[in-house]
Amino acid sequence: MTTTPTTSSCCSPLKDLCDGLSERCSRLVPCCLADPARRSSLGLKAALLLLHLVFAGAVFLLDSDLIHSAPTWLNATYLLLFVLTLVQYFYTSGSSPGFVIDAMSAENGTHATYLNMSRASIQSASKNGNITSSANGNQLGRNNRMNSSSWLKLVMDLYPPGSSSRNWTCAYCNIVQPPRSKHCHDCDKCVLQFDHHCVWLGTCIGKGNHCRFWWYIFEETILCTWTGIFYITFLRSRVLKSWLNVFIAALLLTALVFCFIFLILLLLFHSYLVLTNQTTYELVRRRRISYLRGVPERVRPFSRGICRNLYYFCCSKESTYNLEAVPTSEELEARARPYTCIDIISCRCC
Ligand SMILES: [Zn+2]
Ligand SMILES: [Zn+2]
Repeated sequence: MTTTPTTSSCCSPLKDLCDGLSERCSRLVPCCLADPARRSSLGLKAALLLLHLVFAGAVFLLDSDLIHSAPTWLNATYLLLFVLTLVQYFYTSGSSPGFVIDAMSAENGTHATYLNMSRASIQSASKNGNITSSANGNQLGRNNRMNSSSWLKLVMDLYPPGSSSRNWTCAYCNIVQPPRSKHCHDCDKCVLQFDHHCVWLGTCIGKGNHCRFWWYIFEETILCTWTGIFYITFLRSRVLKSWLNVFIAALLLTALVFCFIFLILLLLFHSYLVLTNQTTYELVRRRRISYLRGVPERVRPFSRGICRNLYYFCCSKESTYNLEAVPTSEELEARARPYTCIDIISCRCC
């Protein structure tokens, strides 16, 4: 009968100590690591960084003469490419794909200012215990409704006449999506010109960062090819090599070959998408997008011609939030017209 209180009194200081320690640990760990999704994203980034260091570093560790035998400028260029690829990776990873909610805010710049002012006045009113907070709340609600109606008009003008806004309202964000947008369940936001959600980068690829993504895979492909050449040079060299070094080099080279095949296919695929102004989602799920369902397979509905597609993708100073309208049936018919000799001479595809 007397053992229970003794045990609890023994465990209590231990429990307090454990609680204190876990509290201290949670204070020491940065808040960004507290979120599991953020933790796994950071883990993937660390893994990618480590993989780059292993693949690029191992070849020079296996053959130290490789650095001395190559000209300095070549080593410097390789090092520059290595750093540039990693910078491009983190730059793309940290970039915004262009969210619909941001486009909505950009469209209503005055609304955003008003919203901040209203919030500030609500906060000051609540601090002073003033009843004006409810009046401001009502104004805020009215303004939100006004914003919704202006956004609704802007977006619905981009769809063919007679389209219902109900069909284009996101069930998760409750905002009207412009054409080419899609809700991403990983980001929990609607993305403009949605391409795909990249797990390796931990972000969506959309209108805002597709160009950066293309440059990243381009740089990664070059780096992979160059590193592979280093491994082949090492395996073909006549210097005395241990069987373990040969085995490690052959293993890493095999992995690099697989990476290269994946990267070159990805690069070619995304180059094709860029030249035809399409997204992965539109290409794969064409039949599920109602305004694309009736469009013939060979017609690229949003294409402005190869040169202009390339220009708008790389060099255009257009805002990320510039929205594209669904082409009219006349425009689609013109694009579906078969090519004649005159079209080829006049470079219609460009
Ligand atoms: Zn959404
Ligand atoms: Zn996403």
